[in-house]
Amino acid sequence: MSVLSAVVEATRSGRVEILDLTTPLQESTPILELPPPLANTHRFELELLSRYDEKGPAWYWNDIHTGEHTGTHLDAPVHWITGRDGLDVSQAPMTTLVGPAAVIDMTGEVEKDADFLLEIEHVRAWEAEHGPLPDGGWLLYRTGWAARGDDAAAFANADESGPHTPGVSVECARWLARDTPITGFGVETVGTDAGAAHSFEPAFPCHSELMGANKWGLTSLRGVDRLPPTGAVLIVCPLPIVGGSGSPARVLALVEK
Ligand code: MN
Repeated sequence: MSVLSAVVEATRSGRVEILDLTTPLQESTPILELPPPLANTHRFELELLSRYDEKGPAWYWNDIHTGEHTGTHLDAPVHWITGRDGLDVSQAPMTTLVGPAAVIDMTGEVEKDADFLLEIEHVRAWEAEHGPLPDGGWLLYRTGWAARGDDAAAFANADESGPHTPGVSVECARWLARDTPITGFGVETVGTDAGAAHSFEPAFPCHSELMGANKWGLTSLRGVDRLPPTGAVLIVCPLPIVGGSGSPARVLALVEK
């Protein structure tokens, strides 16, 4: 049997499950909210054109309004100033969009501390148990945060000092970008950086380091808890927005039972 026939057969029989890791897109989909004078992205919005009426007697359709970074989305290298000469979202290599996923589970730590930061030692410990990070693949950071996804306040988890959501330390972000073979880093939170990363030195290390290394970010993932530590294949489908800094993306995972 050909490899692809075997894949089709496996999905039909249930031996390989196809999981949807995407946050549904609707007006209530959480987005990043920056303080003034910084510009904010557009909430997802449907604008009715016609619905079997005088503007379109036999058809229903809408315009959509959305930011590039709304809901589950891909961050392209050009999104950050460190990657300004890098690839835009339409240029994502197919081998980045389809690749193996490693999943590191820090749910327990994040339950104790919403500002928890992933450190190099955590990833080293994961590697000692599961083997090296996948060459050209994705590291997905499981935090349990997606459980808050239908409650905008709990998802943002902000107080007077700003948002409190898990992220990655400066040292770990630099190491993931420069010294590991991954092509991208995926998270359950609204962005790849910690809620408090505006105050880090340097600020927003995940964005700065990953994009600067021509790597990719994936955010607002759901169902990461259904993935094994190794062995899943991620299929990331952003819109090919020419010149785009990112795009909402349907993200699927193939998981062998
Ligand atoms: Mn983004």
